[in-house]
Amino acid sequence: MSDAPQETPDAPKPPPSPEEITRKLEDFIKNSLGGQVVFSRIEGHDLSSTPESQDAAPQTTEEDTSQAFEFKSKPADIKAYLDRFVIRQDEAKKVLATAVCDHYHHARMLRENRAQKGVPLLEFTKQNVIITGPTGVGKTYLVKHIADLIGVPFVKADATKFSETGYVGGDVDDLVRDLVAKANGNVALAEHGIIYLDEIDKLATGGEGRVGRDVSGRGVQTALLKLMEETEVPLYAPNDIRSQMQMMFDTRKGRTGREVVNTRNILFIVSGAFSGMEKIIEKRQSKASIGFGAAMAEKPAADELFRQARTQDFKDYGFEAEFIGRLPVRVFCETLTADDLFQIMKHSEGSLIRQYEREFHAYGVRATFEDEALRAVAVTAAEEKTGARGLVTAWEKVLRDFKFELPSLGLAELIVNSDLVKDTASALERCRVEALSQPATRNQPEVSEFATHFAAAHGLTLVFQEEATRALKERAQREGCAVDTLCARLFKDFPFGLQLVSRSSGQTVFDLTKESVEQPDQFLSHLVVSSYRQPEPTSISDTYGS
Ligand code: ADP
Repeated sequence: MSDAPQETPDAPKPPPSPEEITRKLEDFIKNSLGGQVVFSRIEGHDLSSTPESQDAAPQTTEEDTSQAFEFKSKPADIKAYLDRFVIRQDEAKKVLATAVCDHYHHARMLRENRAQKGVPLLEFTKQNVIITGPTGVGKTYLVKHIADLIGVPFVKADATKFSETGYVGGDVDDLVRDLVAKANGNVALAEHGIIYLDEIDKLATGGEGRVGRDVSGRGVQTALLKLMEETEVPLYAPNDIRSQMQMMFDTRKGRTGREVVNTRNILFIVSGAFSGMEKIIEKRQSKASIGFGAAMAEKPAADELFRQARTQDFKDYGFEAEFIGRLPVRVFCETLTADDLFQIMKHSEGSLIRQYEREFHAYGVRATFEDEALRAVAVTAAEEKTGARGLVTAWEKVLRDFKFELPSLGLAELIVNSDLVKDTASALERCRVEALSQPATRNQPEVSEFATHFAAAHGLTLVFQEEATRALKERAQREGCAVDTLCARLFKDFPFGLQLVSRSSGQTVFDLTKESVEQPDQFLSHLVVSSYRQPEPTSISDTYGS
């Protein structure tokens, strides 16, 4: 008798999951109408994807927030934490740290205020932030680390994505629903999250001397305006069938939690490069100077101009006054010089250099980066004018061939100095020569690994002579492949051939010489043929018996 639970005919069937319903609907429409039909899904937002998120369906209330999220930081604590990762941008760190503390302390006071009966409601002006500054200078990096430190969900999106689709309002609301997904369905925590919108400058409508996105850009500005102020966003997207099915599913399962997310305490941080705005600022300043009869002594650098940006400049750039008015905290991230890039590599806890060290270490290579090499790369990277992103481009160019070849060379150490940066080809050649001069068995783990696997799989022992190991390394270098890949190719017929030898002669240990690498087929057939050959008679008694 089977132990499987018997299904009673009358037992109610469990409700189908939203995925099941989606699949069936897709199949149905495909069969009836033809073609491929796929229901849309909100990016990063899948309330049904994990059991956690299903069970953590919106149950929390505002009063629960103090358990879900308690804010205790001081501005100096946040700045100190950011200093570990973000180099320079001191002004930005201070302003952001202060704005974040103000925001979350206010949110707490508001919560307490609303919980008390009979006291007048407190007023609260939100401290949403706009960060300007060139690309790759740490704008996103700052916000991400703040969210990590204070433990609130964080959602990042590019503003451009909203104006490219037709349904602006709904798309923008998805940001809030994404926060709920990031908070594993905890609505109260999501209501204290951070929404970060990059490339906000692309929403500018035709401002002074510019051709903007006009209708769509303005539409997105208006939709965002509501979110940034205070609004209630439906937890289940009204235009997304999957989300609606999730609602039905939750309701049938008796989950009757919150159905809206309030944006009052969500902190909005927007950013953009605002290229060209420096001209607007400069123009305004020169007009003002003429008004005061003063001559502009020297054309200020773009960074200096951005520091002096005012609301009027953003309006002239193509933003609605109401929109820019909802972003009272203005932060500027400065351009990074070559020296800043050097400091980033040397001192940031998130330094790319640590990442490269780990990557080489995975192959048993201890990589050391000398300061002079870092300085040389910093200069090249600064020329890219893409901030710290230029470092990745510059290092990839320098290290690309080393990352490919070093794992096969078997060197234990790589010193990255300025010579290597200046002339990578010669430095790589020096590594190859050094690798060849090392005892073959010590620096060629792949060869012994191949022999070990061969023995385990076929019960036969391969003993690679030193000259064979060296020949393998040289050939692998010449052909630009890994040693183990080469072994697998050269010796692919060896299991069958050596089994034949073993059966006819009983031999199980085979010495592999240089010839086995240079001409593996001849080497193998010679072994097979000689194993079948009668042993040469060595004496009269051997031939005729005694
Ligand atoms: P953006 O300013 O365009 O938002 P990011 O913050 O995304 O640029 O920076 C890209 C990467 O460059 C970051 O992930 C980080 O590794 C590095 N980076 C940028 N600026 C800094 C900085 N000031 N200090 C340390 N690392 C930085």
